[in-house]
Amino acid sequence: MRIAIVYNSTGKSNKVYKKLQAMLEENQFTIDQKQPDIVISIGGDGTLLSAFHRYAHILDKVRFIGVHTGHLGFYTDWREYNIGELIESLKTDNGEYVQYPLLDVEVYYKNKMNPTHFLALNESTIKRVDGTLVCDVHIRDEQFERFRGDGLCISTPTGSTGYNKSIGGAVLHPRLEALQLTEMASLNNRVFRTLSSPMVIAPDEWIKIRPIDTDDFVLTIDQVVTNETQVEELRFKIATERIRFARYQHTHFWSRVEDAFLGAKQSKS
Ligand code: NAP
Ligand code: MN
Repeated sequence: MRIAIVYNSTGKSNKVYKKLQAMLEENQFTIDQKQPDIVISIGGDGTLLSAFHRYAHILDKVRFIGVHTGHLGFYTDWREYNIGELIESLKTDNGEYVQYPLLDVEVYYKNKMNPTHFLALNESTIKRVDGTLVCDVHIRDEQFERFRGDGLCISTPTGSTGYNKSIGGAVLHPRLEALQLTEMASLNNRVFRTLSSPMVIAPDEWIKIRPIDTDDFVLTIDQVVTNETQVEELRFKIATERIRFARYQHTHFWSRVEDAFLGAKQSKS
């Protein structure tokens, strides 16, 4: 079994990386950063996002494992003191995994034939900082609304606890195959109107966004930010690709949500 390790720049992650690498070598695992079967990320959810983007071209061959060196994350459920157990699980691995939906983003430019293609694990947002973002939102190929405001966010189920949640989106169980569209500060008055609530679309639907008289905006794909001009249309749908996590232990999704946002020790009275 070939294993790649991705870690963030904190001192703690570096220590855990060294310990893990030594233990993997002791147990005859091959460290292979190029063609791994398993990618272990050490750090936080952000580190796992980076690991995902680094290996996005071989998603059908690779499974991920997240070790957290800070608080419990949504993609990281192993603790550094469980590394011994993790090694044991790797030794008895029989290929088990759990997989989650990803977001497929296509950007069509006015002056180019072929779209640029991205995959997001959490979400994609389009935003404008200098002036209002104006765009037409289509569900499937039907015009739905004209949006005016700061921006829009399209998130995956596992991304629903990220940016989406901060802007009032619902938390979606990751077994649901659905995308969520959430607004950032929409203008709503007698003249301009949007739905104003987060929307969850069905697995066979897609969202198209066409910027109106907007030459420049910011496009984010997870933690990656680009400045866009000359965009004709953006298309968002559930990707055919999936992300797979090696499933050796399982934290119940709602326990994780409770732990992350409410605090496990919170009084229930
Ligand atoms: P970051 O600024 O460190 O991320 C912001 C926070 O979001 C971190 O605490 C991160 O956890 C957490 N996070 C990431 N994915 C999550 C998920 N699926 N569910 C719950 N929390 C999650 O930047 P980053 O670490 O590179 O992560 C990029 C992500 O940050 C974006 O994809 C977006 O979801 C989120 N974000 C949120 C806001 C906002 O809430 N206003 C703004 C921009 C970006 P760790 O500390 O474990 O990394
Ligand atoms: Mn982070």
